[in-house]
Amino acid sequence: MKLHELTIHEARKLLDKKEITSKELTQGIFDRINDVEEKVGAFITVSQELAMEQAEKADKEIVAGNVTALTGIPLGIKDLICTKGIRTTCASKILEAFVPQYDATVMKKLNAAGAITAGKLNMDEFAMGSSNENSSFKPVHNPWNLDYIPGGSSGGSAASVAADMCPASLGSDTGGSIRQPASHCGVVGIKPTYGRVSRYGLVAFASSLDQIGPLTKDVTDSAIMMNAISGHDAKDSTSVPRDVPDYTKALENAGLKGIKIGIPKEYKSKEGLDPAVSETVGNAVKTIENLGAETVEISLPHTDYAVAAYYVIAPAEASSNLARFDGVKYGFRDKTQSDLLKMYKNTRSKGFGPEVQRRIILGTYALSAGYYDAYYRKASQVRSLIMSDFRNAFESCDVILSPVAPTPAFKIGEKSDDPLTMYLSDIFTLSANLAGIPGMSLPCGFSPDGLPIGLQIMGNHFDEGTMLKVAYNFEQATDFHMKRATL
Ligand code: GLN
Repeated sequence: MKLHELTIHEARKLLDKKEITSKELTQGIFDRINDVEEKVGAFITVSQELAMEQAEKADKEIVAGNVTALTGIPLGIKDLICTKGIRTTCASKILEAFVPQYDATVMKKLNAAGAITAGKLNMDEFAMGSSNENSSFKPVHNPWNLDYIPGGSSGGSAASVAADMCPASLGSDTGGSIRQPASHCGVVGIKPTYGRVSRYGLVAFASSLDQIGPLTKDVTDSAIMMNAISGHDAKDSTSVPRDVPDYTKALENAGLKGIKIGIPKEYKSKEGLDPAVSETVGNAVKTIENLGAETVEISLPHTDYAVAAYYVIAPAEASSNLARFDGVKYGFRDKTQSDLLKMYKNTRSKGFGPEVQRRIILGTYALSAGYYDAYYRKASQVRSLIMSDFRNAFESCDVILSPVAPTPAFKIGEKSDDPLTMYLSDIFTLSANLAGIPGMSLPCGFSPDGLPIGLQIMGNHFDEGTMLKVAYNFEQATDFHMKRATL
């Protein structure tokens, strides 16, 4: 097997047995990036020099026996997670030259664990999008078929793992941005419970919805990454002071007897659900039943309002979060104006792309005096109803299964002129963010065109363990995670 094809746990074994060094492994990753990056477009910044220094240090730690699960493992990081000394652009012109002075908490944790930063990954600008076409720099191409989108907004995070340009990556998920690209690229992606992982140093999109999470080649690696990034952080007041279990303990291939799987009846005949997705996900549910789990029908009655509520709440929070980018303290500044207000206006008009501008305008409108009650407040009330839907559902089941996206990946350019159609395709993922529960995407099959399809598993608050257990048993019973894109 080639070095760039290894999973984290496979590389760990070889590193610990001294059959390979971290320098070799990391160099293997950069060779691969050199070979395929032009086709895929997954990276905004490749931090090779720094990575090779980190690898050299990791090799010394390995020799000294100071080893964690991630010592010497190169990772890709979505370009909205602050990395000290490495440019962090959010795929926006407004932050094109922004180099953070500090590390996000997740980066501190990964660095302390001895992991290596291979580079920063492409995404939709400020994480707004579902196709990665909203990057200000370049689109990302799906490694399974380069004419297709990889999903978004963590498109680079998913494509880089699917194309073997890094064994694992970090993404962020506000309304599906880890799970949907993971589904479209055939990798495993987890959105943790809101509050499980610190958001300190994550450039904010919609603060009440954003979570950082891993994208990996298999479930074992996801558990390893979750162990490394989870936990309370005094610097993020929304992170929850609660013990972090060892998630690898959930990986027992002992069948699923006693597990109750909820199937939401509202999801079944959703308009726009592709027959290939419905069939593939249906087969996955049968496989899980065959492993001993019992299925129960559940109801999430407010599903139809999730898209509308999300597309008020997320833009409202974004309009407030993005007010800080005004050309004064950091980022791009338009220097053609002498007048302060014109400088703000020109900076923001030139610095932000069309989708970001659309969200800022929508959000500002929804929050404006006289409209707040009709929009933001109403949407927040709907959000409470969606939360109670899940609370009720989890009284009769342990996890909920559903599609991740209504269709497999679509062609680049196919939906970019139609924001509303793009928003509607988030129907299966948004609710987990609104409710704060964990969700993941797991490879479960392919479309007739050979594009990957993901199964969504949602768990109760802080019950990532049960989600991982179901995922691991499914993975062991199938071989979808072993299939690789050929580039
Ligand atoms: N597609 C959704 C949006 O555009 C979700 C994005 C995300 O999760 N960051 O808002």
